[in-house]
Order: sequence, then structure tokens, then C-alpha cells
Amino acid sequence: MKIQDLVDGHLKEENDKPRIRSGKISPSSLGRCYRYQIWYRADLKPSNPPVKRDLRVFKIGNIIHEWIQGYFTDEQVEVLCEEEDVKGYCDMVLGDTVYDIKSQHSGSFHYMNAVGDDVFNDKFQNWLQLLFYAKHLKKERMQLVFVSKDDACMKEYNLEVKKYVRYLEKELDVLRELWVQYKEDGVIPSGEPKAYGGKECRYCQFASKCVAISEDDHPVRTELAIMKNSTRKLTKKQLSTVMKLENIVNIAEAINKKEK
Ligand code: SF4
Repeated sequence: MKIQDLVDGHLKEENDKPRIRSGKISPSSLGRCYRYQIWYRADLKPSNPPVKRDLRVFKIGNIIHEWIQGYFTDEQVEVLCEEEDVKGYCDMVLGDTVYDIKSQHSGSFHYMNAVGDDVFNDKFQNWLQLLFYAKHLKKERMQLVFVSKDDACMKEYNLEVKKYVRYLEKELDVLRELWVQYKEDGVIPSGEPKAYGGKECRYCQFASKCVAISEDDHPVRTELAIMKNSTRKLTKKQLSTVMKLENIVNIAEAINKKEK
């Protein structure tokens, strides 16, 4: 028996369990592409659900969360933060600070050298999430706890909430307006990848659906064309990205064919 098959089977089973979604804005999606956020809130069926390896990576992230949270009381971890149209759970709340644990591959972990305001800009999405929890719980400080998955190094950044809270307010204002337009008139926001250094489409669960309704200049098609036309020899990692992007486009074309 191949253990990997057994592991993947269990993970698929866990992932396929029906989830009751709140229908509210998800703090962990703040700062991402607006089209993605609106579709996610609307609970659209993903055109690109996580593959086996993604599920294994998510599981390792969960294990790291549980490991660190295990040192704190039930009241200090997974603290519900819910408002009329936003709902999420804060990883940890200790004293005047809200905390979020982020596990990362050592490759990106050891590149994090930003200081001052650059720390905020570098991890904009993660801070927006913490800003929501801090504002909701009336906390003054927020802290990101990064854990390198494969060499167990840790790095932490702590910022003052009041200096940055305006960014959260702006994001929520835009999202609320887009939600009204979507619900009342079916307007789909423009697709603009913002997270993951602008490479958000690669990791988007609606990527093929988005490519299917877009013009030829969709970021996935553009990135794919650039990589395929490169005169340099592609690395193994780049070749795997090409395969991923090609897969997104192929599914998009199948969607379009089916709808004709
Ligand atoms: S594929 Fe890219 S542009 Fe489209 S919804 Fe996803 S992140 Fe946004």
C-alpha cells in the first residue's frame, strides 16, 4: 500500500465535507483580488479546487497552528470576531495584542527582511486580517508570527493598530460597494490580482472561471505567454508553473466549450 494514497484519500474526505459558509466577508481574504473576494463571499463553486499536494501543504499549516495554539487557553485561541457582514476567527489574543500565525516555506521565509512601514506593505493582506480582529476586539497592537515549515525558524513583527486602521476601513468600504453592485445588478468586479506578489491568479480557486469570461489579456494568459516565449532555459519550478497555468487555460476552454 502506498501511504501517500491513503493520506491523500483522508485529506480529500476531510476537504469534501460540506461546510456552512457565513455569506459574510472573510478577513483572511482581505487585500486579495476583488473579483475573487466577491465570488468567495457568494460561495461560487471553485473551478480550480485544491489538488492533492495543496491539501497536504494546508494540513502542515494546520498542524503548525495547532502546535502553537496548544500552549494557550481555549479563551485565547480561535477568538470569534463577527460583525454584520464580516466574520472570522483570530488565531490568538493575548493582552492588548491580536496574533496571526503564518506558516511559510523556508524559501520565502528567509527573504523577509523588511523593516518599518515596509513590513506593513510586504504583508499587506495579513495585516488587513489582523486589523479587522484588532478593531473588532478593541486591541492596540497586532503581531504576525511566521514559522518556516521546513527548518522551524520563527520571525515576528508587531505593529500599532491605529497607525494603519484606515487601510482596513478603505478595503471594507470598497468591498461593501462591490457586494451591493453584485447582488443587485450582477456586476462582477474587475479581476486584478494583488496578493502573492501579483501572482495571485496562480493560486486562485476561480482562475479558470475568470479566464473563461475574460479577454485574451487575462494575467494567466499573459504570464503563460511570457514564460513560454522566454529564450532562457526554464527551471524545474518555472516548468511546473507553466504546467499549472496551462491547466488553468485548458479548464477555461472546456468551460467555454460547454457553455456554447
Ligand atoms: S484568476 Fe486572478 S483576476 Fe481572476 S478572480 Fe482569481 S485572482 Fe482575480
